[in-house]
Amino acid sequence: MKISLRALNHMTSLTPNQRRVFDVLLQADASLGAYAILKKTGFRGATQVYRALEKLVDLGLARKLESLNAYIAVSAKGQSSPTAFAICDQCGHIHEVVEASEIKQLHECLAQLNFQVERTVIEFHGVCSICSGHSHEDKATPSYPRLKQD
Ligand SMILES: [Zn+2]
Repeated sequence: MKISLRALNHMTSLTPNQRRVFDVLLQADASLGAYAILKKTGFRGATQVYRALEKLVDLGLARKLESLNAYIAVSAKGQSSPTAFAICDQCGHIHEVVEASEIKQLHECLAQLNFQVERTVIEFHGVCSICSGHSHEDKATPSYPRLKQD
């Protein structure tokens, strides 16, 4: 995953615990629940994990997937724009939909109603192109960009 300059700036201000949790999220192929993160970090208690996650979400470096009660590192693009997530219920793959004009339009509508959006949660559940067999490519090269570090 590409790391934005903004993320880099934030990373320098992260505590070692926050940094460790962020690294675990970056290395994960899928979203992770707090206890999976706890296992991977080797922290003694879940409180440390939750505190670190709270900060990472505050900074926009990570997002909570409400429907899965799990966390995911956000791409450089996703950090600065409202994002929707398409979650495959079969393989667990999560596709980050950034810069969707529909989400921006929705935000503009709400702004006209003087509604201040503080948090946007848009999650779609379904079956990805690979699992549904609609992909003409092999598993290593999916037809859409995978949320993955490279
Ligand atoms: Zn799938």
